[in-house]
Amino acid sequence: MAELEQLLELLRTNADALNTLTLSNLFCFVSYASCLKDDILLPQPSPVSPSTAPDLLPASIQKFLASACGFSEATTERCWSILKDTIWNSADFAPEACIQYQLFTVPRSIYPLQHHCINPNCQRTQKGLALKKAEQRQAVLYMLDSGPIPVWSVHLYCEKCKVNYHSNFHVHQGKRVYYGGIPDVIQVGEHQFVEHKVVELWVTLMVVSWTSATNCTRFYNTALSCNQQPPPGWQFGFTLDLDHVWNGFAILCLLEDLSPQNETLSVPHTGLDQDRYKTAMQS
Ligand SMILES: [Zn+2]
Repeated sequence: MAELEQLLELLRTNADALNTLTLSNLFCFVSYASCLKDDILLPQPSPVSPSTAPDLLPASIQKFLASACGFSEATTERCWSILKDTIWNSADFAPEACIQYQLFTVPRSIYPLQHHCINPNCQRTQKGLALKKAEQRQAVLYMLDSGPIPVWSVHLYCEKCKVNYHSNFHVHQGKRVYYGGIPDVIQVGEHQFVEHKVVELWVTLMVVSWTSATNCTRFYNTALSCNQQPPPGWQFGFTLDLDHVWNGFAILCLLEDLSPQNETLSVPHTGLDQDRYKTAMQS
């Protein structure tokens, strides 16, 4: 109720808001801002807790939201101050539920699960400082509904204990240690990610109808790729490889096997994909 009152106050006092603050634009604002939480968080100072909505939006995000939602920057700023806690704390505005990514003029980013170092012996962890050293790389996400889309894969690095956090695992001393549970997006190549439900589909095709990995690859490239093409200059093509299917199969099966036992998957970070999961599969 407090939020509605504040929005009404905004409508009463701001001529620009009166013209642009429609239900549809507000829905856009909440959905887009919800998708951009990681990008909003990264430029904040280290002591800002990732669990609390920052008071100020980064300038680039504010400009993007204003342009995407048809607001002035002043209205965007005011909407953020009114709705930030709802956007931050609610899972209802999950990107997959609210957004067609094609509406974005820039590729979405895939971040690690957390913005903090999780090494209990790390000084940074003990001080509660968020990770701010980020590296982003071009990548491709293979989706079930929309085919392949370009994405930025963001790694966060802890300078104190030298752990590099990726979206599915952290890397330390040559080992990839996966986070617990089954991620929504599974990394199947150096620059390739697949939605969990697509990998689940491949596993079902292989187990139920004895479909070969080669034919799972063909199936995706023919039936699910939606004829999407990479944007000009994107480093990676959109054609799925056989290795990506095999890696997805191995990773999902290993995670599903270990997860109920509360065990984590640990594999070598270096070497060839075809050797990476062998020891884990043998054990
Ligand atoms: Zn650390």
